[in-house]
Amino acid sequence: MNLNGKICIVTGSARGIGAAIAKRFVQSGAKVAIADLSLEAAQATAKELTGMGPGEAFGVAMNVTDEAAVNAGVQAVVDRWGGIDVLVSNAGIQIVHEIQNFPFEDWKKLLSIHLDGSFLTTKACLPHMYKAGSGSIILMGSVHSKEASPLKSAYVTAKHGLLGLSRVIAKEGAKHGVRSNVICPGFVKTPLVEKQIPEQAKELGISEEEVVNRIMLGGTVDQEFTTVEDVAEIAHVFAAFPTNALTGQSMVVSHGWFME
Ligand code: NAD
Repeated sequence: MNLNGKICIVTGSARGIGAAIAKRFVQSGAKVAIADLSLEAAQATAKELTGMGPGEAFGVAMNVTDEAAVNAGVQAVVDRWGGIDVLVSNAGIQIVHEIQNFPFEDWKKLLSIHLDGSFLTTKACLPHMYKAGSGSIILMGSVHSKEASPLKSAYVTAKHGLLGLSRVIAKEGAKHGVRSNVICPGFVKTPLVEKQIPEQAKELGISEEEVVNRIMLGGTVDQEFTTVEDVAEIAHVFAAFPTNALTGQSMVVSHGWFME
């Protein structure tokens, strides 16, 4: 399976998991739009990936919570390359508090980036996929799409919601040849997780080592972090799978933290 010549958008891909997915896609021959808040950061990642080849990348400024910005970014990709084959809705943030202390503004901000972002980018890409009669939508869930943890009410709510959105996309998209699936990673050491370690230690009154060894990795089979490359490999399978058999699914990649 490869993505030779496939036109892809990966949101939140200037760094972290999104950048690794974009890299895997470029290595597989895809043309990849690096969509992120900062145009400079997106362009820097795109330049690096284009240098690696055999595919290519370009940077697009996109705040996924802004409908006009999403539509403009998707249109820029279509103008440049002629369509959209794959969307990876990956942009996301984490905010941790117990519910009684969770600022309502933070709740709304987190839900908006994960849920509005996935809805708006999907809505903007689907007409191009429907026109072509094929496409693959991949939403970035989490083990927290299936499991709950203290302090993460907004994140767990958003990630559970993405499973529902993906299943509706799969049912509506089927007659147009469009598939939709969710990736559910365990803890991956990116800036999103690095930031949480001291925050959770403070909230829970435990050491940072305990946060890593007990809270983050305690439930895994081997006490190991999932890597960005592990997640990118699953994204590649969902993107490149050759038939419409693989749709409406979610794949957990978490060193056995969550088993189903
Ligand atoms: P990260 O913080 O390293 O990268 C997130 C990227 O999203 C950044 O480049 C940021 O600029 C971008 N972004 C944030 N808000 C945006 C917005 N409004 N519009 C466009 N871009 C925006 O995080 P990461 O760990 O790579 O996480 C990526 C995704 O993977 C998230 O959806 C996250 O919830 C999910 N995830 C992460 C982990 C983990 O352990 N790191 C585990 C499971 C799921």
